Amino acid sequence: MTKPRREIMSEEQALHEVQAVYEELERRPVERACTRLTECCQFKLTGKTPYLTLGEAIFAARAMRASGQHKLQEKKDGSCPLLHPENGSCLIYEHRPFSCRTHFCQAAGGPYARREVVDLIRKLEDVDWAMGGCGAQSLPAALKVALDRPRALKGGVRATVSPRARGR
Ligand code: SF4
Repeated sequence: MTKPRREIMSEEQALHEVQAVYEELERRPVERACTRLTECCQFKLTGKTPYLTLGEAIFAARAMRASGQHKLQEKKDGSCPLLHPENGSCLIYEHRPFSCRTHFCQAAGGPYARREVVDLIRKLEDVDWAMGGCGAQSLPAALKVALDRPRALKGGVRATVSPRARGR
């Protein structure tokens, strides 16, 4: 039996791939208009939480640290820990996860149809597997994993089997 192909991806490569996915999404001709109402950031109120792949979580964690916040806030109201504690804006808006860009906010135009973005979702899943992730997790859980993770060594890698090779 042939062994499944193993992929290796450094953290820097992964972050580059994640950014490329976000940039590609921006180029898609899908009408959306997020006006930063932050209603969709109220997870408890909406009953919906964004899910992040590992590459996205590391991308978000890096942006969070760059904003000056180094610990995950505990939000008793069930809102996103990445909302600014004083002014309530998103701390990482330019680096916000894929789910926050394609979300369910009706005011912004409603959710993207899966067929409009499925190729980009697959790319993010591929990066997740290539980094040794275990699939998308809810934003607070994914961020915790990313923040607890040892900082990447230059060229540091984790190897795993790609989802395609596993027939996913
Ligand atoms: S990451 Fe930003 S846009 Fe996404 S839910 Fe959190 S605060 Fe809102």
